[in-house]
Amino acid sequence: MKLSRWQRLSGHFTTITSHKLKVTGLCFKLGLYKQGILHDLSKYSWVEFSSGVKYYQGHRSPIDAEKENLGYSLGWLHHKGRNKHHWDYWVDKNRDGIFPIKMPYNYLLENVCDRIAACKTYQKDNYSDKSAYEYFINGTDRLYMHPESAIELERLLKIIAENGLDEGFNIIKKEQRTE
Ligand SMILES: [Zn+2]
Repeated sequence: MKLSRWQRLSGHFTTITSHKLKVTGLCFKLGLYKQGILHDLSKYSWVEFSSGVKYYQGHRSPIDAEKENLGYSLGWLHHKGRNKHHWDYWVDKNRDGIFPIKMPYNYLLENVCDRIAACKTYQKDNYSDKSAYEYFINGTDRLYMHPESAIELERLLKIIAENGLDEGFNIIKKEQRTE
């Protein structure tokens, strides 16, 4: 079924806004107030919003659809260059080549919130508090990000998988790490 431009526009707007509100709520639980409010604001910029509307499908991220069509996503390139909660932001280059940088802890926590919210959106009834951990373990991100960030992210997601979201967040908050 082909969606009209209006359906794609309203669908995309609803998806990114409800995702943002979910992440805001999760970030607030961890005490990340500023990050919770600013999370993913660049999705409302012209480059990201128009690519999101053009490739809106509803059941998966428009970025994946854009990558399939063009081989790359302009929306994603814009997004990851501005949002520090993505490991892809923390990639640099020197004479030896491209290398990942260790992510600051507060952005790693925001990434945890982002992953949980995305799993809830796309997995719907199949979502469980193990979803984000399983998605990370089965995915390839951990092969490209800084190894220490990958180990720490896996540890955080595992705490949530094993203890449930509420108790998991309590444990993470009690650790009170600052870096
Ligand atoms: Zn993001």
